[in-house]
Amino acid sequence: MASRLQGIPPTIFSEMSALAVRTGALNLGQGFPDQDGPASVVEAAVAALREGRNQYAPGAGVPELREAVAQHQAAHYGVELDPTREVLVTTGATEAIAAAILAFVNPGDEVVVLEPFYDSYVATIQMAGGVRRPVTLRSPDFRLDVDELRAAVTDRTTAVLVNSPHNPTGTVLDRNELEAIAAVAREHDLVVITDEVYEHLVFDDRAHVPLCTLDGMWDRTVSISSAGKTFSFTGWKVGWVTGPASLVRAVESAKQWLTFSSGAPLQPAIAYALTKESAFYGRLAAELQDKRDLLCDGLRSLDVDVWVPEGTYFVTTDVRRYGYADGLEFCLALPERAGVVAIPSQFFYDDADEGRHKVRWAFCKDRAVVDEGLRRLAAAD
Ligand code: PMP
Ligand code: GLN
Repeated sequence: MASRLQGIPPTIFSEMSALAVRTGALNLGQGFPDQDGPASVVEAAVAALREGRNQYAPGAGVPELREAVAQHQAAHYGVELDPTREVLVTTGATEAIAAAILAFVNPGDEVVVLEPFYDSYVATIQMAGGVRRPVTLRSPDFRLDVDELRAAVTDRTTAVLVNSPHNPTGTVLDRNELEAIAAVAREHDLVVITDEVYEHLVFDDRAHVPLCTLDGMWDRTVSISSAGKTFSFTGWKVGWVTGPASLVRAVESAKQWLTFSSGAPLQPAIAYALTKESAFYGRLAAELQDKRDLLCDGLRSLDVDVWVPEGTYFVTTDVRRYGYADGLEFCLALPERAGVVAIPSQFFYDDADEGRHKVRWAFCKDRAVVDEGLRRLAAAD
């Protein structure tokens, strides 16, 4: 195996979902919803298949999806985009992240990234020959330490990779934190890659603020999102990148050699979703908030310390309460002990002291599944 892949473990999501299938345990691990998105969107995809939209889509995406993404950015954030030059459709946010890293990171360049990090960041930075510089969101409240952020930037830093709402902590960066990142990016002339896949999954009347809307940030920021999270179609792998034409063109240059173009019939269906089913994600966020409270209250009643997430569909807890020092050991034993699967968070950390004892629980599952998971945890206690 080439050195660019060495030391990168297999993704923990596949491993833990396979464990759930093998043991029949409830999967509160991998973040995919039990319920698909709107039936009308499925019908739109079926219609696109039947209408013969089955050959290669244009590399940058079908025009109606690029137009719908532009309208979405205008409606929610007041960002006016040229859909022909400032929107790129990708095969999920995962491809967008990889293409953006390949587009902006040279071998030896340093990338500042929030820790805990989504696992594909580590792999793609390494595959590009870059070096990650983590800035840790520390428990118990997982806020950004601005001094730590400033200290992470060196003269080799070329990019910052930001994820808010943040997987796995559920932190939604507030305006002060975003301003601090923006100030550092402006000062050091950095490109900012923002992963905003949970942009609509925020709770308690919070609002997600895209970094590109802050002063002086438009020209240096590429923003990434995905229909997987917004419309509960994680298996469709439809994502997009928005930003100034020069940066989007750079990401497109990488994307064309990764996949050339993305799934043709799913793109008009997601265009339909963005234009006709925008009420869906508000309802989804409300339902998730309810399930977040169910899970957090349930865990608290088992004497587990919980930091209530502000967004996403994940909760992090500490397994020392269960007499374990290691989250992986805990998660590997959990199916047999309790018939439940969770994700050991240590795979998202370089800092073992912060990550070793944490696990992540997903609450994007049916209410009955979350309930049953809690019942099983209580019974195994
Ligand atoms: N970024 C984050 C933070 C995620 O949690 C995920 C998982 N959906 C992705 C990117 C990947 O998104 P997609 O499934 O659209 O590739
Ligand atoms: N984003 C989801 C999670 O964090 C799924 C990730 C994946 O399957 N690669 O669980």
